[in-house]
Amino acid sequence: MNETWKHSRSVYDLPPIAERPRALYVHVPFCSHRCGYCDFTLLAGRNDLIGFYLDALSNELAQLKEVSAVDSIFVGGGTPTHLTPHQIEQLLDMIADHFELTPGCEYTFEANPDGLTRSKLDVLRNGGVNRLSLGVQSFDADVLKTLERTHTPRQAQVAVERAQACIPNISLDLIFGVPGQSDVVWRETLVTATELPVRHVSAYGLTFEKGTRFYRRRSQGEFELVSDESEREQYATAMSVLRDTGLEQYEISNYAHPDARSRHNEVYWDASEYFAFGPGAARYVNRTRSTNARNVTRWIESWLKNEPLLVEYERLCSIDRAREAVMLGLRRNKGIAQGEFRKRFGYAVSSLAPEALERHLKTGLLEQVSAEYGTHGPETWLRLTNAGRFVADSVVIDFL
Ligand code: SF4
Repeated sequence: MNETWKHSRSVYDLPPIAERPRALYVHVPFCSHRCGYCDFTLLAGRNDLIGFYLDALSNELAQLKEVSAVDSIFVGGGTPTHLTPHQIEQLLDMIADHFELTPGCEYTFEANPDGLTRSKLDVLRNGGVNRLSLGVQSFDADVLKTLERTHTPRQAQVAVERAQACIPNISLDLIFGVPGQSDVVWRETLVTATELPVRHVSAYGLTFEKGTRFYRRRSQGEFELVSDESEREQYATAMSVLRDTGLEQYEISNYAHPDARSRHNEVYWDASEYFAFGPGAARYVNRTRSTNARNVTRWIESWLKNEPLLVEYERLCSIDRAREAVMLGLRRNKGIAQGEFRKRFGYAVSSLAPEALERHLKTGLLEQVSAEYGTHGPETWLRLTNAGRFVADSVVIDFL
């Protein structure tokens, strides 16, 4: 992994209280093994480093000299529940020392079905965790095998039921477009998910990231790939099966009961600021985006010496902030409230990419509608159409 490291403490300087982020991400970089498609920042089979990681994380968190109030916390990975109950308790205590949870704070932990024991669930619940994001990916044995997951469909179902009895707000991650996965098999996974006590589903198309085993195997022709047409069909199947069971799509890849949308992810799509800690964690504080070193051992070594280690650091100018906000806001089904956007960012959406906007409106990939949502009064919203959601990346890129 080639990274150019920078040392800077300024990313931990807190802005005035009214401008502080209200969301926190903590990255836990450990798993029992690395799945073939995964390019996340993590170490597999290095439990010996978990204690050092916790000490390093404690030093990074200590950079915040004051306690901050947050409305959402997301502990992701890796597999945060790969830690022992005692290590999870240490992690939760550390977070509680630096962050005050506001009433109703959404506190999510990512977990995998295997190894999610009753004692870990008790520790999570007692530590304030009120939402679990379970990496189930599929309820089909062959698809799980292809993905190199270590749980069985039955283990996943049992884990969902056990987890739900302790922490009722459960989200599942599912994957479509997996080599060999038929449309029928994908539909069965969706139906199984909706028969379980689940309040939120994230459904992603499989990607082949450079550097992963899957990328290499695809280049060597080892996979029976799902055609683009089939992948589009599987996306459409997710939209319809989940909608029919009351899980409303609210973002390109996310579906939820109306009161169970991910408050934390809404912060990202709203282009609001957030804290982040741990190797590879990316934060947005003081109008500055910065990312911690992704090399886990270097990150640990550095923070054990109390030295920050960053790989990216960029202060956004006002037009970049506005462009990013369009790109993120269009991910949501409701789109962007254009009047509100202009007040907040100082630019009309239409001024950022006038030609592309006109073209996408004409071809029916974008639309403008008058509607009222939440605290917004009557507004003209710009949003992707249903057809636009199938090619979302190619539409939003025109605003960057
Ligand atoms: S369990 Fe999740 S984070 Fe861990 S290697 Fe597999 S895909 Fe990556």
